[in-house]
Amino acid sequence: MKNYDYIAIGGGSGGVATARRAAEYGARALVVEAARLGGTCVNVGCVPKKVMWYASNIAQAMRDAPGYGFGVGEVRFDWSTLKARRDAYIARLNGIYGGMLEKAGVDVVRGFARFVDAHTIEVNGERFSAPHIVIATGGRPLVPDIPGAELGIDSDGFFALEEQPRRVAVVGAGYIAVELAGVFNGLGSEVSMLVRGPHLLRPFDAMLRDELMAQMQEDGVKLHFGTQVRSVARQADGALRVECDDGSTLEVDALVWATGRRANTDRLDLAAAGLAADDKGVISTDAFQNTAVPGIYAIGDITGRAELTPVAIAAGRRLAARLFLDRPDSKLDYDSIPTVIFSHPPIGTVGLSEDEARRRHADVRVYRTRFTGMYHALTEHRPKTSMKLVCVGADERIVGAHVIGEGADEMLQGFAVAVKMGARKADFDDTIAIHPTSAEEFVTLR
Ligand code: FAD
Ligand code: NDP
Repeated sequence: MKNYDYIAIGGGSGGVATARRAAEYGARALVVEAARLGGTCVNVGCVPKKVMWYASNIAQAMRDAPGYGFGVGEVRFDWSTLKARRDAYIARLNGIYGGMLEKAGVDVVRGFARFVDAHTIEVNGERFSAPHIVIATGGRPLVPDIPGAELGIDSDGFFALEEQPRRVAVVGAGYIAVELAGVFNGLGSEVSMLVRGPHLLRPFDAMLRDELMAQMQEDGVKLHFGTQVRSVARQADGALRVECDDGSTLEVDALVWATGRRANTDRLDLAAAGLAADDKGVISTDAFQNTAVPGIYAIGDITGRAELTPVAIAAGRRLAARLFLDRPDSKLDYDSIPTVIFSHPPIGTVGLSEDEARRRHADVRVYRTRFTGMYHALTEHRPKTSMKLVCVGADERIVGAHVIGEGADEMLQGFAVAVKMGARKADFDDTIAIHPTSAEEFVTLR
């Protein structure tokens, strides 16, 4: 048996970050990783997704180019070249993650960890113990249990695609669904989205949902609402026949399930440590990432809260500071977490939606605007930008800032600082605009 001060189960965003910090603070730390270092974000999440999003933006820029006087000849796009270059980039990142852990003095063991008791785990028959063990095993795609579901792919399968499908159905309406649908559409596939409810991005501000829906439709994505897939079958010609519960059918070359995720707890033998997960595999924690068992913690997607890389990292770093830097109050504040959806156009959002603010506060004032960004003044493709500030109370504290449009992805981080600091509308008004930008509209709203 090998003994450590700290074991992180999972070498993804949270596990790597917390182990590195713990080692920096003097702890003997171990990371156990069953697959590739970097976890979901690096291998089948944020990073390869953003590469594809950039590719789709380049395709759009070439369609915009004639508006600026460029004569663009025949444009060829080769999916397999992009995939090979993307895979090489990810492989480099895997190496960088390994190097970072080595440099920090963190040991790495490859394989699936399972609990033997609350302070001991087993990996490939070898045992490791520590007084502090953090579960950071993330999640994986969840696919509905319907006939032929296995003929579709999930987001992991999207990143494995060697060729671009000509016709695609994307099922779901969350982050992953709108992002992948936007990528496929931008790169020239025919895209249908099959959505069970009446909206895209159900939990988000209505302005964002409506603007994205309008823009995706304008860009040629076929949106089917109130529809659930009943079955999928392979036709003799190789195409997939998708049957929906409203009687409609669709013929596509690929179907992508983007119907949510399940936490990776099943192989951990939680019961051996005296722990339990809920029916989605989620392990609940208190505000300090403590599970129900002393000495066992959970961070990141496994906790089912704000499933975002920077959240997993921040929770892990704060936990390491609490355990190994004698900072007993160190914990993550889960309020006002900014997030970007890399849809086309992108969305940036922080804080409460207008509806949520009205549910929580009596005195709500909303400022909004809708305009065509200057870049699109000369292009044929003219998506709108929409912005909203949600303010509460007599002093108009800003509790929500939402934007969809060109540049929203890079725009929101700084505004999120202001919202987190408790900025008032008057503080925004007092800030001089940066001209000519789209972001300046946030400080000139009336
Ligand atoms: P993970 O990064 O999933 O790491 C968990 C690791 O644990 C995995 O490597 C897994 O192999 C390992 N593991 C599992 N079980 C065991 C076991 N028993 N023993 C040992 N190892 C085990 N977030 C953003 O902030 N921005 C984005 O743009 C973004 N885009 C995304 C796009 C997609 C398609 C997806 C799927 C997710 C995206 N996310 C994004 C979310 C982000 O990837 C996750 O929130 C983040 O990776 C969570 O980190 P984690 O440490 O909790 O888990
Ligand atoms: P989401 O929770 O965002 O969306 C799941 C979608 O699947 C919802 O639209 C839901 O519909 C739909 N759905 C669920 N079950 C079914 C079903 N049986 N049939 C049809 N539709 C179904 O999950 P994602 O998997 O898209 O993303 C997981 C998380 O990963 C996100 O919440 C986010 O935290 C993170 N992520 C972050 C990104 C970023 O930062 N840019 C990008 C990608 C992921 P309904 O609305 O009706 O419930």
